Amino acid sequence: MTFALPPLKYDKKALGFISENTLNFHHGKHLQTYIDTTNKLVAGSNYEGKSLLEIMTSSSGPLFNNAAQSWNHEFYFNCLTGEKKEPTGKLLEMINENFGSLDEFKQKFAAAAVGNFGSGWTWLVQTGPNKLKIMSTSNAGNPIVDGFTPILTVDVWEHAYYLDYQNRRADYLKDFLEHIDWDFVASQMRD
Ligand code: MN
Repeated sequence: MTFALPPLKYDKKALGFISENTLNFHHGKHLQTYIDTTNKLVAGSNYEGKSLLEIMTSSSGPLFNNAAQSWNHEFYFNCLTGEKKEPTGKLLEMINENFGSLDEFKQKFAAAAVGNFGSGWTWLVQTGPNKLKIMSTSNAGNPIVDGFTPILTVDVWEHAYYLDYQNRRADYLKDFLEHIDWDFVASQMRD
């Protein structure tokens, strides 16, 4: 299997907080390079024919880094929307139960992401039937490797926001939290 660049589900001008310029680099260059490098490292190895998920849960070093970054980016881009959405139903109930309210969740998530030192990802993960947790990983890390179910992520590598926000990661987070595709997040929950 050769991995291909997954298309964005929205127009590059549609998000309203991340510019077309950022997406041209982030989706068109950074993610493309992670995918190309994964394909090169997989070719001729016993990872041929395996999915990104299978590769990232069974590899290490450069192959893990590139496969996980490919998976993480596709997931991140799917978490974004230019439409105004709110969590509803079971997801909203779980957010209220685990964090107090949607606003408190947003504050805690932003604090974790702003405090995630260096390059990495901050995640909302499902750790049990009614249990949600905020986790941060460094570099290409992904909570799936530790057996958790990610339902939302934000990329806090500088390449995700520097062209639009420079060093203002907190402002990027504030806007990110108002552009979440909560329908996608809900679709990632398990029973
Ligand atoms: Mn990135």
